Amino acid sequence: MYDITIIGAGPAGSTLARLLSVYFKVLLVEKRDYEKGEIKQEKCCGGLLAPDAQKILAKLGLGLPKDILSNPQLFSVCAIDFDNKIERNYQRHYINMDREKFDSWLISLIPDKAELLFGYSLKEIKKEENFHTLKLKSGNDTKFINTKIVVGADGAYSKVRQLSFNNVKKTRKYIAVQEWYKLKTGPAPCFYSIFDSEISDFYSWMIQKENSIILGSALDPKDNVTGKFELLKERVRDYGIDIDNPYKKNGTYLLRPQKSNQLYTGKEMVALIGEAAGWISPSSAEGLSYSMESALMLSESIKKDPDNFMTHYQKATRKLKYNIFLKNCKSHLMYNRFTRGLIMKSGVLSFNTFS
Ligand SMILES: Cc1cc2nc3c(=O)[nH]c(=O)nc-3n(C[C@H](O)[C@H](O)[C@H](O)COP(=O)(O)OP(=O)(O)OC[C@H]3O[C@@H](n4cnc5c(N)ncnc54)[C@H](O)[C@@H]3O)c2cc1C
Repeated sequence: MYDITIIGAGPAGSTLARLLSVYFKVLLVEKRDYEKGEIKQEKCCGGLLAPDAQKILAKLGLGLPKDILSNPQLFSVCAIDFDNKIERNYQRHYINMDREKFDSWLISLIPDKAELLFGYSLKEIKKEENFHTLKLKSGNDTKFINTKIVVGADGAYSKVRQLSFNNVKKTRKYIAVQEWYKLKTGPAPCFYSIFDSEISDFYSWMIQKENSIILGSALDPKDNVTGKFELLKERVRDYGIDIDNPYKKNGTYLLRPQKSNQLYTGKEMVALIGEAAGWISPSSAEGLSYSMESALMLSESIKKDPDNFMTHYQKATRKLKYNIFLKNCKSHLMYNRFTRGLIMKSGVLSFNTFS
């Protein structure tokens, strides 16, 4: 019988396992493989640590090892507005990193006391009187384990959320697509955010990683996703960025919480953290800070009162809810082509580049 079983070893799950395994009997289950200190399958992610995520790492007392970094480090956002035909640069400091190395590093920090089960997927949750029985599968192998607390840290397509709270309001989902190209005549080293209402009502991005360029977009699943991504490539080429055949492509779901009832922390002995709960910025899709912060909040709540932690967790996460509410207000300005055009034309807080 485990005290706590965490499903998903992304930044939320591995942070929680690290914080709780000293005090409780913890099992961390992850469907991806992990060998010789490395997560094997890639995650579709931009791999940028925004200032909020840097702050939460500092709160957790962590500093980033240098082998996780990816060149170059980025000091600005270049906003390209294809609707209004304007481009502006804004100062911002991102840590550019290799996402798989980041996840692997967080896993490596988990104390030996925790049990880790890689290559297994959660399939079923059965509620018994005082505990839960989980069915885990890896190929033909099936395991059943018992646990008092279940934590869903299993991301945007959370199985824990689907199995335990299917009646709860769904969070708006996008399909995120990313293609990787060999870097040729380089665009300036910054985080490009691209606005074009013909492609998406959210945004697209471009990030340099070592000798590659990632082009990505958050697209409405109801649209012709392939056609919209091709249109984005056409626009980027017309803008003067030399991309040809991608050598890699990946995609995944991306959540965009637009109402507070789309955020859900769980009930009784089943809790959700990270993107599984809906904790992700609706204005920028920055999710790493929320995943680690919600893990910290849940760990403090469980340590305070293991039998009634949900009340404490719900109270603590009001701050995250308010933060997402503010980001939604910002989104209304950012994603309306008229107000965005006005703000960008005013030039407030922007600067010119000379190269
Ligand atoms: C294209 C894209 C780009 C992004 N770029 C950035 C960025 O640059 N910066 C930023 O801050 N945020 C970014 N985000 C958001 C960020 O990636 C997520 O918010 C963050 O990874 C959430 O962390 P998490 O630990 O909650 O979930 P995840 O990182 O998604 O981890 C969930 C884990 O659970 C595992 N899992 C899922 N289901 C099961 C199951 N049934 N059984 C066992 N294990 C399971 C998965 O394999 C995964 O390892 C981006 C998102 C997308 C889609």
